[in-house]
Amino acid sequence: WNNLTVYGKVKVAADVDELTGIYNKRALKFRLSESVYGARQHGSRVSVFLFDIDHFKHYNDNNGHIAGDQALRVLAQLVQDSVRADDVFGRFGGEEFLLIMPNRSPAQALSAAANILQRIERYDFPFGKGQPMGKVTVSGGVATFPDDSQDAVDLLLSADNALYRAKQQGRNRVFRAETGLNPQPGPSSAVLDDSQA
Ligand code: GH3
Ligand code: MG
Ligand code: MG
Repeated sequence: WNNLTVYGKVKVAADVDELTGIYNKRALKFRLSESVYGARQHGSRVSVFLFDIDHFKHYNDNNGHIAGDQALRVLAQLVQDSVRADDVFGRFGGEEFLLIMPNRSPAQALSAAANILQRIERYDFPFGKGQPMGKVTVSGGVATFPDDSQDAVDLLLSADNALYRAKQQGRNRVFRAETGLNPQPGPSSAVLDDSQA
């Protein structure tokens, strides 16, 4: 293994998620702070899309952990292949992913996220028909600096709150963060906890 992933984008071993070959949480947090810092300097924006596979426990329980791992790899590649050159995409937790989109408005970010949802739901994953939704789907939340949040940590919290609402309201959907600063953390805000990675 030569420190290069199949995608040829992530070049430092410490930044690579071993299962999927995309950025890991450590790298994502660094790149997000960097992006928010840059946006603050330049008076520009940075949007994030945080998403989580729907009913993934069901997928593992029914098809086994190896199949689950394979689904994570396929999904990671599917999304990585569709993002822009200046986007940063990685695995944020077990079955959670984060896409950092510099210079994207809330509307543009939401549109990019909706395209990703559609790409995933249309992809014929192995054992997809056995899932509760009849296919492999994800739910997510989009948030934009500085529109929705003042800093990187709060930006992730805002996206996570929107993700939580997407789960509650039926899954396979994406919501924009509630407007207004300092939103209340939702029950799934443990996503920010480093011990999960
Ligand atoms: P929800 O739609 O609410 O997100 O339900 P869920 O079943 O996806 O959520 P839950 O948090 O209950 O389960 C997540 C599952 O993801 C449980 C865990 O086994 C699985 N998972 C996390 N990381 C990995 C991994 O690296 N490989 C595999 N195969 N499974 C993983
Ligand atoms: Mg999860
Ligand atoms: Mg899940």
